[in-house]
Amino acid sequence: MVKQLDYHTIREIFTRFHDAEPEPKGELEHVNVYTLVVAVALSAQATDVGVNKATRELFKIADTPQKMLDLGLEGLTEHIKTIGLFRQKAKNVIKMSQILVDEFNGEVPNSRAALQSLPGVGRKTANVVLNMWWHQPAQAVDTHIFRFGNRSGVAVGKDVDAVERAVEDHIPADFQQHAHHWMILHGRYTCVARKPKCAACLIRDLCLFEDKNL
Ligand code: SF4
Repeated sequence: MVKQLDYHTIREIFTRFHDAEPEPKGELEHVNVYTLVVAVALSAQATDVGVNKATRELFKIADTPQKMLDLGLEGLTEHIKTIGLFRQKAKNVIKMSQILVDEFNGEVPNSRAALQSLPGVGRKTANVVLNMWWHQPAQAVDTHIFRFGNRSGVAVGKDVDAVERAVEDHIPADFQQHAHHWMILHGRYTCVARKPKCAACLIRDLCLFEDKNL
């Protein structure tokens, strides 16, 4: 495991991310906070591109919990059957929508605990929603952030919870809100799993990864 980078190096890394893309955006399509929760829940073990393909039509007809209930389990399943684990995910979305209607007046709650009380919504999904919709500096660690954080030394930890703490502890406050997307996009397109594009990486002189692909 590489060592955790120091404050000044991390500040320099995020300054470069910021200069390259001041307003990084997530790639999961949604039309309101409810459809964001659904899209994030559907994206577990699936790609954003695959989820977007399925939800583009779905969200035209079901963009509220009540409309999702009106569509029903079978209708929803039909829309998302190209996404991994679709049967379980469809059941969760229907259960979640029922709870939102029954207990939250059809609104999506915005505390982590209330979000996590919904079926199919774990800590990662809750953090993505808090970050993307309510602009909280909540950190959701996915496979891209986990890989990038540990390779580079930006956020080192043996599991996702440890990396989440490392992100919260080591990334300066002014970069916390966008850190999630900068790291996801960097991991997805540059610091990729098999052959990281180190020669084109804007932080290659600061990254601690020993097997750089230069
Ligand atoms: S230099 Fe290579 S390993 Fe380091 S962050 Fe960039 S792409 Fe990843």
